[in-house]
Amino acid sequence: MKTMYRTHTCGELNGQHVNEKVTLCGWIQKIRKLGGMTFIDLRDRYGITQLAFNAEQNPDLCKQIEPFGREWVIQVTGIVTERYSKNKNIPTGDIEILVEEIQVLNESLTPPFTIEDESDGGDELRMKYRYLDLRRNPVKNNLMFRHKLGIAIRNYMNNIGFVEIETPFLIGSTPEGARDFVVPSRLTHGEFYALPQSPQTFKQLLMVAGFDRYFQIVKCFRDEDLRSDRQPEFTQVDCEMSFVTQEDILNTFEGLLKYIFKEIKGIDIEPIERITYADAMRFYGSDKPDARFDMRFVELNDVLKHRDFKVFNEAELVVGIVAKGCANYTRKQLDGLTDFVKRPQVGASGLVYVLCQEDGHFKSSVDKFYNQEDLRAVAEKCGAQAGDLILIMAGKTEKTQKQLCELRLEMGNRLGLRKAGEYKLLWVIDFPLLEWDEETQRYYAKHHPFTAPKPEHEAILETEPGKVNANAYDIVINGTEVGGGSIRIHDKNMQKRMFKALGFTEEEAQRQFGFLMNAFQYGAPPHGGIAFGFDRLCSILCDADTIRDFIAFPKNNSARDVMLNIPSPISEAQLKELGLK
Ligand code: ASP
Repeated sequence: MKTMYRTHTCGELNGQHVNEKVTLCGWIQKIRKLGGMTFIDLRDRYGITQLAFNAEQNPDLCKQIEPFGREWVIQVTGIVTERYSKNKNIPTGDIEILVEEIQVLNESLTPPFTIEDESDGGDELRMKYRYLDLRRNPVKNNLMFRHKLGIAIRNYMNNIGFVEIETPFLIGSTPEGARDFVVPSRLTHGEFYALPQSPQTFKQLLMVAGFDRYFQIVKCFRDEDLRSDRQPEFTQVDCEMSFVTQEDILNTFEGLLKYIFKEIKGIDIEPIERITYADAMRFYGSDKPDARFDMRFVELNDVLKHRDFKVFNEAELVVGIVAKGCANYTRKQLDGLTDFVKRPQVGASGLVYVLCQEDGHFKSSVDKFYNQEDLRAVAEKCGAQAGDLILIMAGKTEKTQKQLCELRLEMGNRLGLRKAGEYKLLWVIDFPLLEWDEETQRYYAKHHPFTAPKPEHEAILETEPGKVNANAYDIVINGTEVGGGSIRIHDKNMQKRMFKALGFTEEEAQRQFGFLMNAFQYGAPPHGGIAFGFDRLCSILCDADTIRDFIAFPKNNSARDVMLNIPSPISEAQLKELGLK
């Protein structure tokens, strides 16, 4: 690290350097006075080194540092000395620098919040001064982690023959189910570019071009409502391969994930289990189940629809989960669970419970309608034992599955079953190709319009579109979707049929995707791929709640950058030039 400014960094000196004359540069973290001694903690990206000033030996120097404050940038030269009281917590804790010379490189205003691991600054303030926030260890370490993960991925992909190729940011709309960010054209007023939601069509064209194995760590842009795991611009590890089946893709990327976990976390992951979309919905009520814990759904229609209980009799689905060892829940705890499912975010109208008491008796919130025999049958069906609690919900299938999924996750939290540092990976496969939307009364592509139907379902694309499945897959870690992909259509006519199924007229399809269908006529190989959410991968591997912590300059929940204060108006002249005025 030797440069004209410094001989070492603030993180590298130790007992072996004692008596060496060194020069360091950095920021003042802390100044402490102890009798005739003054100590400064000098910080840079690499660590902290203690500087010592002795008032008796060097009164001039002590006078010089008197006005210094936090975050000033200084350069010091001095002798590495063994410390009297050592600090075992930091690598440089055995030594300090007895300073002989000091130079102020830049003064600093007092920062608006403390640059400590636990800062006193609120979110908004820290975002406004993100460059100061980035000086704090936890935030800095997150970006270092991101870097390390990126390098590991590039190494692995390079080693197995993938080529990183950049694709354009100024493109036309690619429908991936989200809104596009658009860029007005100055040269042709009234026309627009769109920023890519993903490089989907380009990576397919690269397969037509014969690159065989492509990847890219790439920014993507989606104008969606934001959540903690969404940003308007985010990064994907985007991949595509030629001459492969779904099996090849799952195996290739299982290899990548294995490597990442080993390399980055030192964890050997188990072979990744697979579950079909249909089973994921049936057993977990979600296409991204948190499989760190079991608590699978059990359908109870046949054991609960024979009595006089209207709620169940009228329901499309009656379904339950077993909370092990929770039969001792108090009335208050059970009411708490009912309140939980009634919250608008979950939106259920109620919850039925069955306590399987230790004495073999059953107590339920529907005792009026069901006798002990009935409840025993329920317990048996659920595999519940004495001491367990059964929680049951009923209603329209999809809605009820979703609601029970929320309750399952909540119970997982309450019972400590969603352990940080434990990772359960899952391939969800066999997604439906299309999804019916009630509101607009049409089918949408579940993944995207370039996903191929399973060959054995091709014939029913027009007659029974809702029944067509695709070789489409998601990779889920601990209940979060971190990637997804599919085998693609590589035949012009099939692509045409797909656009038709999605309600495109032939002209619309040709206008928007003619370039792709044309390309398919020039020897497009069979191909498929996947894309991973890079920011999400970072946050999951670090057990963090939000991807924002892993992005150097993120937007807030209203898609604003509070440091740049954008979005912001542009000048009249610019508007005119772009034909927007
Ligand atoms: N382009 C897709 C996405 O962004 C991923 C893929 O199919 O490879 O979700």
